Amino acid sequence: MAEMLDKIAQKTSGVLNIAKYKIKLATKQADLDEAYEELGRALFIQISDGTDMDKKIAALVAKADKLNTEIEKIQQEIAILQGKPVCASCGKVNAKSATYCGNCGDDLNEQNKK
Ligand SMILES: [Zn+2]
Repeated sequence: MAEMLDKIAQKTSGVLNIAKYKIKLATKQADLDEAYEELGRALFIQISDGTDMDKKIAALVAKADKLNTEIEKIQQEIAILQGKPVCASCGKVNAKSATYCGNCGDDLNEQNKK
């Protein structure tokens, strides 16, 4: 009985963690959209009236880069919680049934043995 309750608790916390990561993911994606929008606006100002926006553009590109990396990491965390294989070579999230990585072709079963 205790063992069964333990299993249920584990499953529930897994689902809660996935929900938590999904909220985090949505927030980061909204931040990224905003950075892209600002980037577009900065480019528009620079091109249309010649105002030097290089510093602002560089800062926004760096911000978007960082957000993209964070989003990738969160997607990997979700995949791990969902039991999906994440390629150890390239970081690509693969389908549960995948034997080889859909991105780099690495043998996912071999990776698990290591
Ligand atoms: Zn791969």
